[in-house]
Amino acid sequence: MTEAKLTPMMVQYLAMKERYPDAFLFFRLGDFYEMFNEDALEASKILEITLTSRNKNADNPTPMCGVPYHSAKEYIKRLIEAGHKVAICEQVEDPKQVKGMVRREVVRVITPGTLMDDDAIPMKENNYLAVIYFKASVYTIGFVDVSTGDIRLTSTSDWNQCVNEIQSMRPTEMLVSSKFYKQMLLQLKQLVSTHFSVHEITDAGPYNWQLDDASTDESSTLDLLFDYLLSVQKQAIHHMKPVQRYEMSHFLQMNQYAKMQLELTRSLRTQRKKGSLLWLIDKTRTAMGGRLLQQWLEKPLLSASELASRHDRVEQLMNCYFERVDLMSILDCVYDLERLVTKVSLGTANARDIDNLRTSLQQIPRINQLLKTINDQNILSENVFETLPVFEELLSKIDEVLSEEPPISTTEGNIIRTGYNTQLDQYRDALHNGQQWLAQLQQRERELTGLKTLKVSYNKVFGYYIEISRLQATTFNDDRYIRKQTLSNAERFITDELKELETIILGAQENAVNLEYQLFVELRQFVSQYVSALQALAVRVAELDVLCNFASLSEEEGYTRAELTMTPHSFYLEDSRHPAVEKLIGKSSFVPNDLLITPEESLLLLTGPNMSGKSTYMRQVAFCVILNQIGCFIPAKKAILPLVDRIFTRIGSSDDIASGQSTFMVEMMETNFALKEATPNSLLLFDEIGRGTATFDGMALAEAILYYIAHHVKAATIFSTHYHELTELEDKIPVLRNIHVGATEQKGEVVFLHKIIEGPADKSYGIHVAKLAGLPQPLIEQSRDILEELERNAKWLREPNNQQLNLFDLPKEVEVTEHPVLRQLAELDVNQMTPLQALQIVSELQQLL
Ligand code: ADP
Repeated sequence: MTEAKLTPMMVQYLAMKERYPDAFLFFRLGDFYEMFNEDALEASKILEITLTSRNKNADNPTPMCGVPYHSAKEYIKRLIEAGHKVAICEQVEDPKQVKGMVRREVVRVITPGTLMDDDAIPMKENNYLAVIYFKASVYTIGFVDVSTGDIRLTSTSDWNQCVNEIQSMRPTEMLVSSKFYKQMLLQLKQLVSTHFSVHEITDAGPYNWQLDDASTDESSTLDLLFDYLLSVQKQAIHHMKPVQRYEMSHFLQMNQYAKMQLELTRSLRTQRKKGSLLWLIDKTRTAMGGRLLQQWLEKPLLSASELASRHDRVEQLMNCYFERVDLMSILDCVYDLERLVTKVSLGTANARDIDNLRTSLQQIPRINQLLKTINDQNILSENVFETLPVFEELLSKIDEVLSEEPPISTTEGNIIRTGYNTQLDQYRDALHNGQQWLAQLQQRERELTGLKTLKVSYNKVFGYYIEISRLQATTFNDDRYIRKQTLSNAERFITDELKELETIILGAQENAVNLEYQLFVELRQFVSQYVSALQALAVRVAELDVLCNFASLSEEEGYTRAELTMTPHSFYLEDSRHPAVEKLIGKSSFVPNDLLITPEESLLLLTGPNMSGKSTYMRQVAFCVILNQIGCFIPAKKAILPLVDRIFTRIGSSDDIASGQSTFMVEMMETNFALKEATPNSLLLFDEIGRGTATFDGMALAEAILYYIAHHVKAATIFSTHYHELTELEDKIPVLRNIHVGATEQKGEVVFLHKIIEGPADKSYGIHVAKLAGLPQPLIEQSRDILEELERNAKWLREPNNQQLNLFDLPKEVEVTEHPVLRQLAELDVNQMTPLQALQIVSELQQLL
């Protein structure tokens, strides 16, 4: 379409759209928000709404789609969930008052990372907007949750660490300055899958963030962040908490990969909370507690004293069963104070929100009473529960103003308590009395006119009127009556007296609603003085909730408190269990296992057949360490654990293939990362490293990696392998000790004991497993023959005299032996097979290879 053909409205639209190129522009037209051009094409697909067009008959019709104003919220939510932004463009003038085009403005930009609407964000999750700032080789990274007012800030000069931190906080939106390096941004976009917003800082500051001794980099980061918030919210925000600065190295670090593999907060398969460790242990009663638990799980502690304080309090709560049960049921009545307070501060809280705040505050005295009782029973430690602030003044103000069960709507009355405001009470009296006056009027008029069926009624269009039947009206004559409406069977009249009454009644109603709203806004403003104090209360309540959670989980599941040791490489677990597998198969079916890692033997080589429980064992060790370091008790009978600074896992998963990189490449990159980053205080969990490549290749690598860990990395390690040859390393690497998963044969069949036992596994059970799975008997027999042959060859290769031999230069004997797969292939009768059978056989042959 050429410029000349554009209507004034489209000119206005395009000008607006130019300012918000990365958002869907919701352009208000009457009762609809309309979208045009590219926006319309894309949104109609995402929202599954009809795509139409303007100027259908023109050469170039404009694509267009729209959503009704009153149901826009739902559509906006869907666009945001799909990772987009929505700019709301409203008419800012009354169309009736202006000639020509109505002025329109974007009143708010809704973005995934700045949501504050409760139904759009999961209750128990934080919604982070991440911001990154780079200068002089330092990355300053901020995470902000506008819905709760949380801001955290950290920095690093290590790009990998920076990316990892961002990945593991899973922001829904990522903010960079328009001056950010293009190359770096491209890389970041590949690594972090989220919505990216590029923002050019204006000069609207200074901003009201709070951070002591902020460096210039920190100031720049926060300025960028606040400038952006202002640009999307279009109003200053006052509820942000003081900025929390943190060092990544002050917490147990796990890279995104390890968190994924351990399914710490998300299930690997569904990417949802359900099925994760978090889901398993989350019994928190409040939304704030739920979020804090996740924060703790993302950042396990490294400080022994902080940890002891959490452990002590969990233990006290465990000892006080009745008080704890009471506490938890009281916590059920505490609402999401953090998000409530945000709404109060932004002026979006309704009467129901304030009522929920009241209900929450009413619980505090009872909570305090219980905490005192618990403290009284505590004789063991100095870590006691501090009582919570009670907010007496605020509570009595809310009570004084707010009615008992206010409605959600702030414009329908019934919000304010009777007796609070004399004027309001008068309006309400008038309303109430008005009904009586009307009844009296009706009675009087019946007597005066002698018409017994005369009645006073009301409708929205005409207001109050007196109705007389058509028949009676024909002979009726009274000067006071003014005809208003004629119906087929009735006549409607008003009188001066009725008119007066109507003014009083309707006026009273309107005045009452307006006054109630005004009084409510005053109350909300009063509450907003308490924003930061209430935020602090929310944190305390959340902590109490999580500690109660730990105590009741530990009691129900039979967890014990681990003793902390300051000696690295000192792990002792007696009868430890995997919290999820145990739940899945039942306590009685799960075989508990021990773990012993000492400074002298810090490298455990774990052998055992597939499906015997090796990775379950390794995961359960990781879980015990993590649960311990978030302050929870752990699934074991007895435990001594050190403070682990980093956990690296390499537990193979099908995910690697989906991510587009070859499994083996990913495996090696992860291994490299672990070997570089691990310290002697770290825990390495390597599952079947080297499996992704050819046997000799993989075995050689695995062996070399073991040497490297023993001599250079020196981290506590569990290394599982199915290469039996590696168990011989026990004689060569002093810190290496063999353990294996027990299995036994009964009547020629293998039975897994799932028990971790000292020493190397003596036999490969792979073929037995294949037999258990029901593979054809001839195939099983043949595989036994092949195994024998392979073992002969392998032994020959490992003989000292043959060590110099190039692996690719295999002895003649091996080369000329016809491979059994070839033999089987040759024997196949292709003409007798269905395609399905052929596929089946190809798959079996592959397995054999
Ligand atoms: P591997 O890593 O050796 O291939 P897994 O750890 O995946 O084996 O375990 C295979 C299955 O064995 C698990 O899904 C679980 O059902 C069962 N299993 C593992 N460990 C135990 C245990 N300690 N007690 C009971 N069952 C177990």
